[in-house]
Amino acid sequence: MAGILIYSDKENLALELLTAARIIGQELNLEVKAVTINNDALATALAGAGADVYGVNNDNVIPADVGAVASTLEQAAAKLDTKIVLLASDRRGKELAGRLAQNMGAGCLTDVTDIHINDDRIKCQRNALGGATVATQYITTDKQVIAVRPRTFAAAAGGEGKISLFNIEARPTKIKLLEVKTRSSEVVDIEETEVLVVVGQGLNSEGNLAEVEKLAKALGGEVACSKPVATDKKWLAEERIIGLSGKKCKPELAIILGISGQVQFTVGIRDAKVIVSVNTDENAPINRMADYILPADLHEVIEEMNKALG
Ligand SMILES: Cc1cc2nc3c(=O)[nH]c(=O)nc-3n(C[C@H](O)[C@H](O)[C@H](O)COP(=O)(O)OP(=O)(O)OC[C@H]3O[C@@H](n4cnc5c(N)ncnc54)[C@H](O)[C@@H]3O)c2cc1C
Repeated sequence: MAGILIYSDKENLALELLTAARIIGQELNLEVKAVTINNDALATALAGAGADVYGVNNDNVIPADVGAVASTLEQAAAKLDTKIVLLASDRRGKELAGRLAQNMGAGCLTDVTDIHINDDRIKCQRNALGGATVATQYITTDKQVIAVRPRTFAAAAGGEGKISLFNIEARPTKIKLLEVKTRSSEVVDIEETEVLVVVGQGLNSEGNLAEVEKLAKALGGEVACSKPVATDKKWLAEERIIGLSGKKCKPELAIILGISGQVQFTVGIRDAKVIVSVNTDENAPINRMADYILPADLHEVIEEMNKALG
């Protein structure tokens, strides 16, 4: 039976794709199949969520060699009769999507924020015009590669799938893996954080960051920022930028301090469950999307909050 293929090397994202693929599979009568590459633990997790997993074990395919991964998935898609491939739209997933689509001769959409089926088409929502609007788009070719933003769908859980081993010819590119370094504990993933305290240029000085960090810690969260805070002022690392050129975050709570709310920023935070904006300018655009507005000096607000929490 024709199917839909999912792949991500990250367990949480692969389980989210499984949910998305099931929605599509049910509507279009397609069997859901998952591929893992050199990752038995992931294969077990996916099978534990009810997926039929095809495990490729071949040391010549390394995740850093995205071209080789694309070739592996291309071969898997052909052998498994799956013309539709779902990937995660994280940094590596987006590169993979383009390469795989090119290999397969497929149409490709990345950064997809929602999917529904209409007229037997997979209708995908994506931000358009720099995040000013949301467009619904679909691929007209038979073969389709769709990369879905992390945390768009809930992770699949429960079920009993099976794992089959799968032989694929490894086609490594010229990429050579020289060294693997473990991530420093300093590195944060603001996309995975439930509470974000987000600072903008209204902070005025790097010296005020210590109080912001204290607040984030008291709330069990992390500090994030607008782009100029990292790229112009260099007060924080670029991995903490939210927005069009940074991360797209979906926290439970975002406390936004001294950020005007240009669309290039808001596109990365508008899916937060609760947004609190602290801004001296009552008419700052960010306030239009905030659930709570404090028209106040952020330094006073941080001091009061730290006192109350601390
Ligand atoms: C192609 C492109 C991509 C971009 N990508 C991104 C991106 O990914 N992320 C991003 O953030 N930006 C991005 N930008 C830049 C974006 O357009 C804005 O310039 C930027 O978001 C503004 O940052 P800000 O809100 O921190 O600063 P400002 O716009 O200067 O706003 C500062 C705010 O602080 C308030 N304020 C001042 N003092 C206080 C105080 N004491 N207490 C409380 N409030 C105070 C002010 O009222 C103001 O609203 C991009 C731009 C382009 C052209």
